[in-house]
Amino acid sequence: MHPLMMGSLSWVEYRARIRDSQAIVFIPCGALEQHGPHLPLGTDALLSTALAQSVAEQVKGLVAPTFSYGYKSQPKSGGGQHFPGTTSLDGNSLSQMLRDVVRELARQGATKIVVVDGHYENQWFLTEGIDLALRDVGSSASLRVMRLEYWDFFTEAVLEQVFPEGFPGYALEHAAVMETSLMLHYHPDLVRLDLIPDDKPADFPPYDMFPPHPEWVPASGVLSSAKSATVEKGQLMATQVVNSIAAAIDHEFKIER
Ligand code: ZN
Ligand code: MN
Repeated sequence: MHPLMMGSLSWVEYRARIRDSQAIVFIPCGALEQHGPHLPLGTDALLSTALAQSVAEQVKGLVAPTFSYGYKSQPKSGGGQHFPGTTSLDGNSLSQMLRDVVRELARQGATKIVVVDGHYENQWFLTEGIDLALRDVGSSASLRVMRLEYWDFFTEAVLEQVFPEGFPGYALEHAAVMETSLMLHYHPDLVRLDLIPDDKPADFPPYDMFPPHPEWVPASGVLSSAKSATVEKGQLMATQVVNSIAAAIDHEFKIER
């Protein structure tokens, strides 16, 4: 038996998994952010958690509680902060929280940590938190941390099958085909197919404005259409990306399966 969720273990079980089995600890990171009328606010956290669980099953890892809040939604990648429900952290808060958790896990003996990011805007603040934690524990510690955005693992072949009419790019893939298909695979009960809007893809200028212009963003909050999302695409993407992440972990951490 290899229970997955750190929060469900007793300290005795946890100690055995970390000290004796050198389990990899996954930290899923998401956001509380609008995802159009058809997906829930917690989409980024739900997907990073589901993918981390799938990979952890393959590598006998543990999944720490998810970071359910993320860095501020940007108009050109997440619609922006003007949507009700989009509830965000300052970058420094996110960095410091991840720094604390990574340092704590290392103090308990964890040496292999994988930060699974499901929210585009988190990227550099997670990187900063990891870097500060590594500085805290010092170069004599054997801690190593992998950070990833799961969509970077999709192969050309899978993208061609999921986007036969051409891939719009990950920034515009907000609440669109990728996330909607993955949600149909992992959380079908939370997807409202009947409410998918059919807006044209957003067309942003090559700069940002502060305060931002809400009128740049489609009123639905969806940056390109999710109409062609299917559960089959979700299963195809999930299977491929989970296998690819597990292979990267094998490569970096040389784990036994
Ligand atoms: Zn998202
Ligand atoms: Mn997001």
